[in-house]
Amino acid sequence: MTKADATVTHCLTSKLNRESQWTRKNSITRHAQETMDTLPATQIQDPHKKAKHLVKKSTTSIRDTFQKKWTDHLKGLAVQGQFVRVWQAVEADIQWKSLLFQLPPRIMQFVLNAIIDTLPTNSNLVRWKKRSNAKCDICNNKETLMHVLNNCASCLDRYTWRHNSILCHIKKFLAKDMPDNVKIYLDIPGQYKGISTVPVDIAVTNQKPDMVIIDNVGNVTLVELTVPFESNIIQAEERKKQRYEGLLNEITSNGHPTELITIEIGSRGLICKANADKLFKLTKKVKKVSRKQFRAFKNEITKVTVVASYIIFYAKFENQWVSPPLINV
Ligand SMILES: [Zn+2]
Repeated sequence: MTKADATVTHCLTSKLNRESQWTRKNSITRHAQETMDTLPATQIQDPHKKAKHLVKKSTTSIRDTFQKKWTDHLKGLAVQGQFVRVWQAVEADIQWKSLLFQLPPRIMQFVLNAIIDTLPTNSNLVRWKKRSNAKCDICNNKETLMHVLNNCASCLDRYTWRHNSILCHIKKFLAKDMPDNVKIYLDIPGQYKGISTVPVDIAVTNQKPDMVIIDNVGNVTLVELTVPFESNIIQAEERKKQRYEGLLNEITSNGHPTELITIEIGSRGLICKANADKLFKLTKKVKKVSRKQFRAFKNEITKVTVVASYIIFYAKFENQWVSPPLINV
């Protein structure tokens, strides 16, 4: 250890002596000592600067070693392995992590438990020996977290409610201060005319993209929003691309340059980088937004999603579902 005041040195020496008795010698203090001892010699003469330099070097080394050890260890565990994969997917998204801590405590707890899959799903209750079978109380299939949040065939109205809450929030953001001549149609009763969200003068179809935006020069943007379980994001995107390929070509051949933007928001609120970029592209189709406004918008989408998933999760204890008003944040 570098020189510190007498009390600190004494404490550290005692700690090291004590830990040298341990059979598993893997404490951070010991590691720090070993790292310090093996650091290459430095030319720095000033004792204060030298100490600072050594502390910085060893801190970096210790952090890297422990982070790797921790990640490797967790990867080996079934449940936490999932956590690490999801966490790594948003590694670059510092915002999401900080947003998490701004949520009401109950919602934050829910999201953290949802990420490491430690919510009281029937599968977990069986694992914890608190229930004899893992069947879904609503449909009788095996109840995992993915089943509750995304896959229960008897809960489609709940998922539609979450989907529409997010869709309306996106529209609300786009429509605020947008140019007068831009039109937005939504696949929500009352938000489009006729049988399709695509107006008949653009194309005659019975397909209903979630959102259709027509700008002042007739360019068309079709938007499809999906709220899949995070591990199914790629499949959701592919499915939507295939479904709208024909319609896209038809509208384009009718003289309206058309683009399809698929947006996938993880049901646990994660918006990966690729989807954040697509959302930004979508907002730019309608109006100018600053990076700051966009960040706030993205955080609001995460909030709407996690609050909706929280409500859906705890509604699993109810057979009856009456859709609450769409979530407004
Ligand atoms: Zn079910």
